[in-house]
Amino acid sequence: MMRTRFAPSPNGLLHLGHAYSAKLAHGLARAMGGQFQLRIEDIDATRSRSEYVEAIVADLRWLGLDWDSEIVFQSDRLARYDAAAERLKAMGLLYPCSCTRSQIQVAAKAEGPEGPVYPGTCRPDADGNGGADCTRPHSWRLDIAKAAAMAGPLGWHDRVAGKVVAEPELFGDVVLLRKDAPASYHLAATLDDAADGMTHVVRGMDLFAATHIHRLLQALLDLPPPLYWHHALLTGQDGRKLSKSEQAPALSELREAGKSGPAVLDALGSDATGPRVFRTGILAGNP
Ligand code: GLU
Repeated sequence: MMRTRFAPSPNGLLHLGHAYSAKLAHGLARAMGGQFQLRIEDIDATRSRSEYVEAIVADLRWLGLDWDSEIVFQSDRLARYDAAAERLKAMGLLYPCSCTRSQIQVAAKAEGPEGPVYPGTCRPDADGNGGADCTRPHSWRLDIAKAAAMAGPLGWHDRVAGKVVAEPELFGDVVLLRKDAPASYHLAATLDDAADGMTHVVRGMDLFAATHIHRLLQALLDLPPPLYWHHALLTGQDGRKLSKSEQAPALSELREAGKSGPAVLDALGSDATGPRVFRTGILAGNP
C-alpha cells in the first residue's frame, strides 16, 4: 500500500508553503490510491503549542485535505526514539557532547547544511579517551565517519533529482538526542516514516539535505528507504522561501477572513518540479 504524510511542527501557524506541500503529498496519495497521514512533529515541548495543533487541523480541513488514520503525535513515541538511540549507542556510534552553541561556532572550521560543522571536540579517540564533561548538560552526537564506514555507500531515489548519492559527511557529527528535547528531528522523522510504512516522503527542497542523514540512519537501523519527492518551494517574488516575514498570510488568516480553502489551494497550482512564485494577486480573485 502506497503511503505518504504531511508532518508539520506545531510551533507556528501554517502558511501557503505548507498548504502547497500538503497538497502535493495528499494529491500523490489520492492519485495512487494510497493513504495520507497527518503527523504532528511535537517533540520540542518548549516550542510546540496545542493551539497550533488545533490551527493545523482546522487549516487542513478548510483546505479540503483529509487524512486516513489517527493523527500521529511524536510526543507519544518518545520511548521508541530512545530505544533506537540506545541501539546506536550499543553499536558505538553515539557519543555525549557538552559543547555550547557558541563554543562550536568559535571552533568550527566548515559550514554544513545545518550551520557550522561540529569540529569533533567531544569525540573520543580510537582508544575511547577524551570526550565530554558529562556532569554538564549534554547531547548525543552520531560519529558520522564511523557510521558511514559501517553502512557503506548509500543513495536514494528522488522524483525530481533522480538518483542521489548520500553524503552524510557534509553535516559532520549531527545531534541525535538533544540537550533540550528528547530526540532530534532526524531520528524521530526517520523512525516514524519507517514505523508507519511510508513508501513515499513528500516534502520541500529545504529538507533535501536532511535526507543524507535519514538515509544513513535507515541503513544503520535496518529500515527500508522510501522514495523521495523534494518539491520546489513556493517562493516570494524575491526568490526566497515563502514565509510570514515576506508578507505571505497565515492560512488561518485567510480562513478567518472567509476565503475558500479549496480555491486558495487551486490558486497555488501544481507544477511541482519548477519554482512556484507566489504573487499576492493569486488570492485576489478568491471568494
Ligand atoms: N516537521 C518538518 C517541518 O515542518 C517536516 C518534516 C518532514 O516532512 O520530514 O519542516
